[in-house]
Amino acid sequence: CLPRALPLVFSRPQSQNHRPRSALDSLRRSQWASPVSSGRPGPSQRRRLHTHKVSDAEIAALARQHQHPLSLTDLVRHGRPPLSSESLLTSANFALSLLPVRLAHRIQALRNLPYIVVTNPNISRIYNNYIHSLSILLPYLHASRDGRPISSLDDEVLFTNVLAELVQTHTDTIPILAKGFLECRRYISPTEVTRFLDQHLRARIGTRLIAEQHIALHFSSQPHFDPPASPTPCPEHPSYIGVIDTVLKPADIIESCAGFVADICELRYGVRPQLCIDGEPDTTFAFVPMHLEYIVTELLKNAFRATVENKSREPVIVTIAPEPPLRQPPYSDPPTAVARPSEDDDRGAIAPLDDNAPGVTIRIRDRGGGIPPDVAPSIWSYSFTTFSDNPDDFPGSGSGSDIGLGAIASASTGGSSIAGLGYGLPLSRAYAEYFGGGIAVQSLYGWGTDVYLRLKGVGLIDR
Ligand code: ADP
Ligand code: MG
Repeated sequence: CLPRALPLVFSRPQSQNHRPRSALDSLRRSQWASPVSSGRPGPSQRRRLHTHKVSDAEIAALARQHQHPLSLTDLVRHGRPPLSSESLLTSANFALSLLPVRLAHRIQALRNLPYIVVTNPNISRIYNNYIHSLSILLPYLHASRDGRPISSLDDEVLFTNVLAELVQTHTDTIPILAKGFLECRRYISPTEVTRFLDQHLRARIGTRLIAEQHIALHFSSQPHFDPPASPTPCPEHPSYIGVIDTVLKPADIIESCAGFVADICELRYGVRPQLCIDGEPDTTFAFVPMHLEYIVTELLKNAFRATVENKSREPVIVTIAPEPPLRQPPYSDPPTAVARPSEDDDRGAIAPLDDNAPGVTIRIRDRGGGIPPDVAPSIWSYSFTTFSDNPDDFPGSGSGSDIGLGAIASASTGGSSIAGLGYGLPLSRAYAEYFGGGIAVQSLYGWGTDVYLRLKGVGLIDR
């Protein structure tokens, strides 16, 4: 079951250098750290994860398969309550039908990097993580009985453990890749790095979402299951379908994230910038809370940092405006699920369920002096930052440089720094665009910055 409206806990930093650690995270972590239970505690389910040596031929065959654009309809369809055993099995088989192909595409993309880059210990660690994940999924693909690899609830429990392991394996990908590409910068151009990372990290969003959705459905099918070591009781949350909250209130997430970002700001600068929420704070829409948390945290980090470094006392103002569903012109066909262009990369792998779903626009306005014109062209490049790790450099920023080792170190150890990785804007944009939204930055140099975050809600119409 998925907790909703549980208080966000900020005492311990989240491991990906971006999100506050929520009760949901804690719950997930405790679930992932321990074997998934079918209600009957399995003695050594984790040890029963089989691996399969992955051959080059298998990777090539999987990577040749087209990655079909996937509608969120599919993810939501299996999760509509009441969740039957049958829909749980369908959801598991659905995840299995997608993940090996996606992993194989990523393995091929990593192999296509210059050889000297792939041999870098950090990049090869990521490569090996993908090989490992494929090796624990393939036994299921090969075990097809009657064309249905996961055919019993016991299989489903074991498979959910495999998904949990997959998510866990790839948790620290971002700081590891950041370090790897920093070490290889002599051998690969920034444009190539940005192209690779943009595709790779967008693909990762989809892969995690598929796995997390099934894991969440697994637990929501067991409302009385008490995860071991969970710090909070686990109430039922009828507003969730898997990892999607159908009545997500952005104002709640913004407030929580602002508290977290103010904490790390205070640690770094000794100052807590103020935040005001205006517009229509009661707005709700259907979205993935983890994604909104990631984006809002990164945008607030930038706004707070600029505010403090510019010695401004003005609050950061966040305006929330609901976007009503598009009006259908008279006599038009009913809305259809939108598949984005079927490029064979992961950008179009998940499309909004319904192009007509209500969304939200959030404007984050700071008086932090804006973005210098010479910096502006680079802000969307992965690993570009003007942050300096050296506290003596504050206030004022560098003229634009590569990622700071301090930010990487802090991200790798589960900490969070106000800036320095240079991934905040490009990765936030990847998250926003995943479901058809976007981010636009408007800087008034010498004055401040407006960031417009537009998010399309996940449509929930059955088709
Ligand atoms: P990081 O925060 O790690 O530097 P980001 O991708 O979040 O990486 O931002 C890249 C750069 O864009 C920042 O280093 C900063 O120079 C600039 N920037 C982003 N947001 C703002 C803002 N609100 N005000 C001023 N500069 C900003
Ligand atoms: Mg940032």
